[in-house]
Amino acid sequence: MLGGMNSRTPAAPWELPLNRRIFVSRTLNLNAIRAVGFDMDYTLVLYDENKLENLAFEGAVDFLVRERGYPETLRELKFSSDRVVRGLVADKSLGNLVKINRFGYVKAALHGDHFYSRDDVRRIYANQIVTFLDPRYEMAHTLFSLSTCSLYCQLVKLYEGKASFEELYRHVDEAIGHAHRQGFLKSRIMARPQDFVLLDPDYATTLRMLRSFGKRLVLVTNSEWEFTQAMMSYSYDRYLPKGQTWRDLFELVVVSAAKPQFFTERPRFYEVIPESGHLKNLRGALSAGSIYQGGNAAEVESFLGLNRGQILYVGDHVYSDVLLSKKSSKWRTMLVITELESELAAAGRAQPVLAKVRELMVQKEELELRLSYHRRVQADPSFRGHEGPPQEMDESSLKSEISKLDTQLAPLIREYESQFHPYWGELLWSGNDKSHLSMVIERYACTHTSKVSNLLGYSPAHYFRPPTKSYL
Ligand SMILES: [Mg+2]
Repeated sequence: MLGGMNSRTPAAPWELPLNRRIFVSRTLNLNAIRAVGFDMDYTLVLYDENKLENLAFEGAVDFLVRERGYPETLRELKFSSDRVVRGLVADKSLGNLVKINRFGYVKAALHGDHFYSRDDVRRIYANQIVTFLDPRYEMAHTLFSLSTCSLYCQLVKLYEGKASFEELYRHVDEAIGHAHRQGFLKSRIMARPQDFVLLDPDYATTLRMLRSFGKRLVLVTNSEWEFTQAMMSYSYDRYLPKGQTWRDLFELVVVSAAKPQFFTERPRFYEVIPESGHLKNLRGALSAGSIYQGGNAAEVESFLGLNRGQILYVGDHVYSDVLLSKKSSKWRTMLVITELESELAAAGRAQPVLAKVRELMVQKEELELRLSYHRRVQADPSFRGHEGPPQEMDESSLKSEISKLDTQLAPLIREYESQFHPYWGELLWSGNDKSHLSMVIERYACTHTSKVSNLLGYSPAHYFRPPTKSYL
């Protein structure tokens, strides 16, 4: 029944490569989920991110030149994704972009086009813990975080000593927001979707599979009706049986939803007349098959007649889709992180090196334990344990063995790291510790994965369990 047009046979769950798996932070029984809500942009509709970030960058530069008095030569700047990644934090006081670990310690920093050395990072950020209560720091988590970061570090380089770093950030943020709001991007995408939207037949198959298991589907997007209709129709209609459109997949469609307020407050719904896009005041209850604007999660729950734990929301935005939907409305969450696909493919390739690193680290830790014991006994022989060490070595031979292992480890670690971003490293890790992004994901996303169609690898009745606990 799901064989339909253009679909491929999905792999069985145990055959799935790492980058197509669904990862679990909090147990999720899909069988108990009765309705699935979806975000649209970058969740159900995929864009060529580089092209879109380029467009946002161009629109922002145009705004700075026209509205904020920047010179025409600014138009020579180009978006570059080489130096920026997801999850960076702007330090507006020093004009840096930084990566922080889950405790808020800065582990890497970029200033203009200069990456600081580890020693410099330690010196500059000694005694600094990044907290978002401090207005000095800003998490780049807007839709166009990459173009925001790219434009910011280029302006920092150009205007060092001539403008304050706070002001530059304010201008970049305003300009990117303006480019986004003014419909500059959306009209360009709607005019030539083939240049910007990536097509994948598996997405339609995924939604049809969920439907065939009785899941009720809801679309909740911040995009306006005209754009939603254009993008969904372009991405889905071609893969559906003749006579069906994307709207047949959804019981409820909510556009211009103003997330996160959709989850945290109780704005009212308006009904959208699909043909004209005009709005009507909503009288009475929501009804199946209609299009709404605005609104709130609580009324969607009553319309569905479900409790919060029976609804899963799938989105790509850490704050507006996942953090606040989990905190405020208590819907279960699945975070889509597109970058995980290449990140986990790299992690897969790096597995053999990592296994070798771990093996040597076990030996190193064993030697370090012995060294520590040796020093304890030297300090006071009465600290000798009842059993005594398995085989005593003197301090200098222990140190020399450790240093031999370090010599073997260093190139292996470099080889492992070379699989990821040359400066920022892994997305979810910061050295041996988890990154801030990783902490947010674990805390607020019940599950996370690289793309919606990864659901095809599992049954819609799958029981997703977090990794087993271990003290080792
Ligand atoms: Mg989105």
